[in-house]
Amino acid sequence: MSKGRLFVFSGASGVGKSTVLRGVMEARKDLSFSVSATTRPPRPDEKHGVHYFFITEEEFREMIDRDAFLEYDLHAKACYGTPLDQLEEKLARGDVILDIEPKGAKIVRDKRPDATLVFIMPPSMEELERRLRGRGDTSEEQIALRLERARWEMEQQSWYDYVVVNNDVETCVQEILNIIAGEAN
Ligand code: 5GP
Repeated sequence: MSKGRLFVFSGASGVGKSTVLRGVMEARKDLSFSVSATTRPPRPDEKHGVHYFFITEEEFREMIDRDAFLEYDLHAKACYGTPLDQLEEKLARGDVILDIEPKGAKIVRDKRPDATLVFIMPPSMEELERRLRGRGDTSEEQIALRLERARWEMEQQSWYDYVVVNNDVETCVQEILNIIAGEAN
C-alpha cells in the first residue's frame, strides 16, 4: 500500500528546476526523490544512484521488456525512465518527487490520477535564453534546440495542476512548499 503522494515536476532546461527542487527537499527532509534511469553519460558532478541510474541502452531495453518503468521517454539522444520498484519502495515510506519531462508526466497523470503535477515556468522566453547563454558551455545550435524544446514544453503547462514561475528561487521554493502542504490535507 502506498503511504505517500506523488509530486511530478516539469520545466524547460535552464528554468532552474534542479536548484528549486533542491531547496524544496532541504526544507522538507521527509520527501524523497525518484531516481530515474538514463542512457546518457553522467556529468562530472553526477553520482550513480543519486542523480540517475546510468545504464546502457541494452539494460534500458531489458527494463522496458520487463515492464519495469512507470513511464519512460526516448529522446533523440538518450532514454529516461522512472523505475517502478524503487518508486513503490519510496512511496511506501512517504511523499515522492519526480523530475520528468511532459511526455512522461502525462503518462504518470493517466496511470496515477492522484499525482499532483507542477510546471515550473521561466519569467519569460527572453530570460530563459539569457540563462541558457549564461551557462557558457552551450553552443548556438544547442541553445536553438533547447529554446525550441522549451517552447513546446511551455505549451504543455495547460494540463498541469499548478504552474509556478521561477522569478526568484526562494519565492518559487515557498510556492511549491505551499502546494505540497496543501495537497497533504
Ligand atoms: P537531463 O539530461 O538534463 O538531466 O534531463 C533532461 C530531461 O529529462 C529533463 O527535462 C528531465 O526532467 C527529464 N527526465 C529525467 N528523468 C526522467 C524520467 O525518468 N522520465 C522522463 N520522461 N523524463 C525524465
